[in-house]
Amino acid sequence: MKIAFIGLGNMGGPMAINLHKAGLGLAAFDLSKEACQKLQGEGVAIAESAGASVAGADVVISMLPASQHVEALYLGGGDGQAGLLENIRAGALVIDCSTIAAATSRKVAQAAAKRGIAMIDAPVSGGTGGAVAGTLTFMVGGEAADLERARPVLEKMGANIFHAGGAGAGQTAKICNNMLLGILMIGTSEALALGVANGLDAKVLSEIMRRSSGGNWALEKYNPMPGVMEAAPASKNYAGGFGTDLMLKDLGLAQENAMSVRASTPLGGMARNLYAAHSLAGNGALDFSSVIKMVQKKG
Ligand code: NAD
Repeated sequence: MKIAFIGLGNMGGPMAINLHKAGLGLAAFDLSKEACQKLQGEGVAIAESAGASVAGADVVISMLPASQHVEALYLGGGDGQAGLLENIRAGALVIDCSTIAAATSRKVAQAAAKRGIAMIDAPVSGGTGGAVAGTLTFMVGGEAADLERARPVLEKMGANIFHAGGAGAGQTAKICNNMLLGILMIGTSEALALGVANGLDAKVLSEIMRRSSGGNWALEKYNPMPGVMEAAPASKNYAGGFGTDLMLKDLGLAQENAMSVRASTPLGGMARNLYAAHSLAGNGALDFSSVIKMVQKKG
């Protein structure tokens, strides 16, 4: 099986490395030379362009930042640049793992189907730690038969694979999850900052809440307070991880979706505004757990 992997950032990089380590034949590409060099250092073959990477590929995987990148890649840009679908052979399978609007996923899937190319949306959860460990959760939208074709590949990168429904359903599940994650990270930050302001030790309080009714994923795996968890972005000056601007994008997708179905998501809306303010304050590139800075005493 020949696999093309496009988008080798914080998530795509380690995901591609896991496929390579599993012995799958890979041609990888990213617009960033630095990202390509990193993968080359791990022995992954780098293609000269996205078009070159998909030549003869049976499976094409993409892990890009947002809707506009995925749409431009597969369908072509407004500048007349041809879309990648024209280079992918009929009968191939496209697996888009980016978190994007469900409507964009459906648009690209329909265009792919017209060319005889199958496509599933397969956004992930589990953070960069999960990407490195190969324990991601995949939320898949598309035909069940196409998910079965993708399963042997997804299993090399993840531990849980869910079929959420038809095209775009994986994206809908993903924004529900990330809206909850965005909210719970702020709540966890508030609680930790409150305890520390009262003289409690952040590690002790984290452990108390982790084992009590406030226990959640942030306290288990991604503590926002520096020094509590060695491996968490908080202990690395909030470098790497899941960028504030990416969380802001996901919360925006959740709000757009909520408006389209007239759902009430008050905390989701507030969380989007808090991450927006945090981003405007110059923290957009920091991991999203840095949102704790908004509620922490300075100095
Ligand atoms: P990232 O910014 O680290 O990586 C994205 C990569 O895509 C970059 O290296 C960029 O150069 C590349 N790229 C952009 N356009 C391209 C193109 N046309 N061709 C080739 N390469 C291109 O982002 P990330 O953290 O890896 O996230 C990727 C996606 O996964 C996002 O949709 C994000 O919301 C989602 N996600 C991220 C996390 C996380 O913890 N970081 C977790 C779950 C889901």
